[in-house]
Amino acid sequence: MDLRQPKGFVSYYTKARDYDGVFDFVPRAARPKVGRPPFGIGIHRNFDIGAGQGRLHVINDNAGRLFHLSPEAWARGAMVDVGAANAAEEKHAASVGRRPGAPMIAASPVVTCALAAISETDMMLLGVRDYGPGRAADPRAPAGRSALYSLAFMMRRAAAVYLDIQDYELKAGIRSQEDPALGSVVGQIFLCDTLENGAGYATHLGEPAISEQLLQMIVQNSHWLFHDRLVDQAHAGACDTSCPDCLRSYSNLAYHNLLDWRLAIDMANLALDASSAISLSSPLWARVAGVAAATLEAARPGFTRTTFGGLPGLTNGREAIIVTHPLWLTDRAGAGPEIAAAWDDAERARGLRVDPAWSFISVFEALRRPA
Ligand SMILES: [Zn+2]
Repeated sequence: MDLRQPKGFVSYYTKARDYDGVFDFVPRAARPKVGRPPFGIGIHRNFDIGAGQGRLHVINDNAGRLFHLSPEAWARGAMVDVGAANAAEEKHAASVGRRPGAPMIAASPVVTCALAAISETDMMLLGVRDYGPGRAADPRAPAGRSALYSLAFMMRRAAAVYLDIQDYELKAGIRSQEDPALGSVVGQIFLCDTLENGAGYATHLGEPAISEQLLQMIVQNSHWLFHDRLVDQAHAGACDTSCPDCLRSYSNLAYHNLLDWRLAIDMANLALDASSAISLSSPLWARVAGVAAATLEAARPGFTRTTFGGLPGLTNGREAIIVTHPLWLTDRAGAGPEIAAAWDDAERARGLRVDPAWSFISVFEALRRPA
């Protein structure tokens, strides 16, 4: 991707009016990214942890459409996204009840690129080391990204409570790193100070004992009343994935559909201990696992609810659909004990067809894409 850091921005050159369109530098479009950290990474409990000054890229790729910039004489040679300028002119004309002017044609050459704001700031990086057998959070897969982003934003919320600051004073994100030894990609989460040059928050949060404290706030009741409020029936009974009371805020708008507070708690538990139980029959998950099965049933005429090896599922008498936890691997070789038991029950005990390509549907998918 062609990445450019402009010296400055203006939104709309020719009209003195409200900000519109040309460079939409809001959290919805801008995604923070960090590169290779210049500080060392240590090990604490079951997580990699490091902190220090590093380079933060806040990238705006115009929601994947990129920007198409050309040097325009009327803008004294400044680079303009003419398509965006035309759209802004149309919108402005409509708002004041006149016809838009003739659309401008971009001068050549047009540079197609993403925009970046690059700054040095304080950051901490944290990665779960060992997910335990049959479990993973692959940052290339939606459920894995969901788990990582949920942990990142839950850590940010815990940090804001811990430091008594606003959550937008920290930026949160994930970083993918190839593991050449395993031939796979592992995901880490990061928190950065929003202020350039850093206020020192993230460096403090990246001390192993402080990171552990944040994880503990997420996984168990404490005087912070952090975990307590998440699992309180008023929240847990009403929030199937995420809401403003747990993970959603204006500053993570682009991620709302990915965020899941239950996954954040499981990830935090795993970071503390690789042998943590990750179960759909736990008090944390049982209700939404049932909601997931009911949602799938409603989307599949001819299928009725059942259970396979203790997991919620559906069958039409020939095929099995099994509801899984988003962190579980569902291929025959990688499957953990819960999946293996359900697979056996469906296939061997009940003679139903199980196909790894479509039989396993995680709660994450069931609640978001049931059909
Ligand atoms: Zn919620």
